[in-house]
Amino acid sequence: MIKIAMIGGGAGGLITTSKLSAELSEEIKQEKVSITIFDRKETQEFQPGYLETAFRGTKPEKLKRPVDKLISKGVKTVHADCASLDLDNHQIITEKNQEKYDFDYVIVSTGCSPDYSQIPGLKEANMDFYTDAEVSSRIFSTLQTIKSGRIVVGIAGLPYKCPPSPNEAAFMADEYLRRHDLRKNVDITFITPYTRIYTAEPINEVIEPLYSERNIESRTVFNTDSVDPARKEITSLEGDTVKYDYLFLTPPHKPAEFLKGTDFADDEGWVKVDKRDLHITDHDYAFAIGDTNNIPTSKAGVEAHLEGIVVANNLAMNVTGEGTKHFFTGRTQCSMETGFHHATFVVGTYDRPVEKIKPTVTNYAEKKVMEGIYWASLHGHYEWLFKYHFKKDYFAESPT
Ligand SMILES: Cc1cc2nc3c(=O)[nH]c(=O)nc-3n(C[C@H](O)[C@H](O)[C@H](O)COP(=O)(O)OP(=O)(O)OC[C@H]3O[C@@H](n4cnc5c(N)ncnc54)[C@H](O)[C@@H]3O)c2cc1C
Repeated sequence: MIKIAMIGGGAGGLITTSKLSAELSEEIKQEKVSITIFDRKETQEFQPGYLETAFRGTKPEKLKRPVDKLISKGVKTVHADCASLDLDNHQIITEKNQEKYDFDYVIVSTGCSPDYSQIPGLKEANMDFYTDAEVSSRIFSTLQTIKSGRIVVGIAGLPYKCPPSPNEAAFMADEYLRRHDLRKNVDITFITPYTRIYTAEPINEVIEPLYSERNIESRTVFNTDSVDPARKEITSLEGDTVKYDYLFLTPPHKPAEFLKGTDFADDEGWVKVDKRDLHITDHDYAFAIGDTNNIPTSKAGVEAHLEGIVVANNLAMNVTGEGTKHFFTGRTQCSMETGFHHATFVVGTYDRPVEKIKPTVTNYAEKKVMEGIYWASLHGHYEWLFKYHFKKDYFAESPT
């Protein structure tokens, strides 16, 4: 029996195991292969929906699905946290009862989460749309009480997931206030450590004029050092300050705790992988996909998806001895809502810089279609559409 372990049953974990279960269905039926997901959660959430919950009031329950309904045929689950991963001895130890599980192949897809410990005062002062749906809904409850003052949004620290999301928050807060005829009483300030409003110049060129048009103030090269909740003031490493009444900042993110201090992760715990085939450095039977690895691309669901498809293909090929090896192209495609039913996309690969795409209603409609098929896509039902959409970026047949 060949044992395949997936640590993390979120976006990357589910799409990868669904592809593996399809590719290895015969082997699973004949009990030659087993696939097991390790994850503490019994419910998954549609994370891109946190913005809708925060700024449009979508109910948290609408973003949730029970994990058992998302698992593909033949895939088993262990509802437990992974406490340690010993790659050399092929062993996972779970937190609950310190149980040990052996594997032949392992894939890590444990994502990342807000790390408030890095910025003094931030936790007390901030409301975010990254932790979970309930925490995001606190922003909407607060928005409904605002009559005047200053909202500060933006990037408090790096890295974080979904690069456009802080900008989306600025546009969505602006839209909410305009629709409620409150914009003239409420200022919006966007802070960022980068030298421009959006780090990739082609996208900056399309959104910077919108910031001026919508009267959203921006403070660039602002590296948040600390927040003083009593004075309602943010101080940067550069020595600047920004006053706020309401703080909806993007906190820096961290990987899962058990990865820190291992020899296969960097000093902060991001897993070191080959950026083309996603194998963990020096371990060709171990892989890391999605937000938790250290590849030079965005931390976003599209990457987790396309990386997972590559890893599942190559792993199935190792097991069956059939097929050809695939490589990840570095393709990103993050939607950026610019308010009032318009959106742009941040699109690029390892070899092609980010494109300049103007915000349109059509892009917004495409984003909505993608949201509509999200849960079904985790079962692999829409792979034909992704293959058609991403074309030569879906995977590469050679590493260069
Ligand atoms: C506001 C917002 C907007 C976004 N918008 C977009 C978008 O428009 N487009 C896009 O592509 N992406 C978007 N994303 C990002 C996308 O949701 C993530 O990049 C994606 O979910 C990453 O998949 P993953 O598998 O790496 O991690 P996740 O989906 O986060 O899954 C990680 C899983 O690992 C589990 N886990 C963690 N630690 C352990 C442990 N020790 N043991 C066992 N299990 C563990 C967790 O419980 C979780 O289920 C957005 C995210 C946010 C927050």
